[in-house]
Amino acid sequence: MEENNALKDKIGSFPRSPGVYLMKDSARKIIYVGKANDLKSRVASYFTGKDTRPMAPFLMARVHDIEFINTVTEKEALILENNLIKRHRPRYNVTLRDDKTYYHLSLDPTEKFPRLQLVRKRFNDAALYFGPYPSGLAAKETLRFVLQVFPLRSCRNRDFKLRPRPCLEYQIGRCLAPCKGLIDEEAYKKLTQSAVSFLQGRRRELISELKKQMDEASGELNYEEAARLRDRIGALEHALEKQHVDWGGTKDQDVIGLYAQDDHYQLCILFVRGGKLLGSKSFAPVKIKMDMAEIVSSCLTQFYDDKAIVPDEIIIPCHLPDEEVIIEWLAEKKNKKVALTVPSIGTKNALLDMANDNARNLWEAAHKKEEQKSAALLILYEKLSLSRLPRRMECYDISNISGKHAVGSMVVFQDGEPDKNSYRRYRIKALSEPDDYAMMYEVLSRRFARGESLPDLVVVDGGKGQLGVALLVLKDLKIKVDVIGLAKEERAMISGKGIIKKKVAKSEDRVYLPGRKDAVYLSAWPHALRILQQVRDEAHRFALSYHHQLKQKDDMGSILDDIADVGQERRKILLKHFGSSKRVREASLDDLQKVPGIGKSLAEKIYNHLKSEK
Ligand code: SF4
Repeated sequence: MEENNALKDKIGSFPRSPGVYLMKDSARKIIYVGKANDLKSRVASYFTGKDTRPMAPFLMARVHDIEFINTVTEKEALILENNLIKRHRPRYNVTLRDDKTYYHLSLDPTEKFPRLQLVRKRFNDAALYFGPYPSGLAAKETLRFVLQVFPLRSCRNRDFKLRPRPCLEYQIGRCLAPCKGLIDEEAYKKLTQSAVSFLQGRRRELISELKKQMDEASGELNYEEAARLRDRIGALEHALEKQHVDWGGTKDQDVIGLYAQDDHYQLCILFVRGGKLLGSKSFAPVKIKMDMAEIVSSCLTQFYDDKAIVPDEIIIPCHLPDEEVIIEWLAEKKNKKVALTVPSIGTKNALLDMANDNARNLWEAAHKKEEQKSAALLILYEKLSLSRLPRRMECYDISNISGKHAVGSMVVFQDGEPDKNSYRRYRIKALSEPDDYAMMYEVLSRRFARGESLPDLVVVDGGKGQLGVALLVLKDLKIKVDVIGLAKEERAMISGKGIIKKKVAKSEDRVYLPGRKDAVYLSAWPHALRILQQVRDEAHRFALSYHHQLKQKDDMGSILDDIADVGQERRKILLKHFGSSKRVREASLDDLQKVPGIGKSLAEKIYNHLKSEK
């Protein structure tokens, strides 16, 4: 009560201007970030009961302190709120969990001969971006189709400048070789414009334009060009026929669908480009006590903040309290007016229904998967006689070749899902001998000596030996935690010459438990076994990729070590210039000579040495 009175007094001194307020709990952790046009009255509404949102009482029960940051406009407050939510991820704000990559195609029309390429990141530059595509595969398929129909260059700018002759793309008819002047600027520009029209969804206009060009070409007796245009038109018409979902219109629209059940929300965004449904994007379900308008508003500002292209129109399921300021912010991002529409009838409403249905299906699928995972974890708990439900698992693996480039990995799975931010990799320090047990001992001791919080279950890749090592580490460090070993079945096989060979049977994994002689087989509970296999395979993959990385670096280093005059500094310059040791190896003499600080004679030495190594 006293605390509340002190807070009320503090709010009395808040300004009546736009800004952002930050609510903190007793540990001074930010639990909520909000924006307001009038900071004083907005924050006061929490105390007067005027704020009727479902999460308000929860916030009030936990808030210990409130701070504010002034801004000049409400739009600035919106931008600041967004940044603070991303940085602090407060408990009572919605944070979109979307670690998937957004794929776009991009083309810079300011270049003389623009290149069409697949990009994962959108920059604020002069380039045109198309998409987002629902997956890398969908983007690659579109790129392949566009390059087939409109043979624009796909090579990097460096290759474009340096190539002595046209590459294979030219030989197979997928590029008209502007690198060697085999197509003039004007003709290439026309090709670029056609590709852009196609990617922007203006396909019918494009076909009529190409038909006009074809008639002109045959009128000028340029039958070769006319035939090329005819084929292009044929391919486009075929692609149009295949497109089943056409919603009419030429605008780019995003449709935000939402499914709510209790305090759970599932979001799904449909992308409609030029009337065609291009794909969709989903996010992890959100669990929060919040009303729909606030969820949609938070998602909108987070989604369009940096990754996604702002379309001409965004269709949303409900009106938002801060609609005007969001429209202003979106228009500034797009450099053009953006419509925020809540439809009730017609095509837009049908699109919204479809987005909502998609969100519901996604939620149901995620819910089912969740249930399966919980059941699988319960089976592991029972069948392996664990002391705790293995919600957080850590798995360890070792990778080396005859003791060289030895590394260890730790991967973490939370509730059956990888938690990549918690992964760790270890470079084995103490040994250069191929002793897997000693390496495992080093990795586990380094991890558990740190005193960080313990997982529910430790999994080591291996049988009784590795399990014994793990138990020894835990005993030495006086730590109590469940631990198991997961090993592939090995069978003794006698070859024709009577030599006993051990062969690994791929599908049969067995689990070793402390103090138990016989291994446990989980093949009767495939979901439970699959979780353990996923954890083990991920640890294996993670260790191997680090091992390869070290090996590659070292290989290149040792090759260059043999060349007099190539010291550490020059080695770094070479790797930085070419981006990888593979590219250094592939570099031509000409390429090497262009590296700053290398010079002609040293370039020749390096080139000849790498050639002899090959
Ligand atoms: S032919 Fe020339 S312009 Fe075309 S992709 Fe190859 S290098 Fe690039």
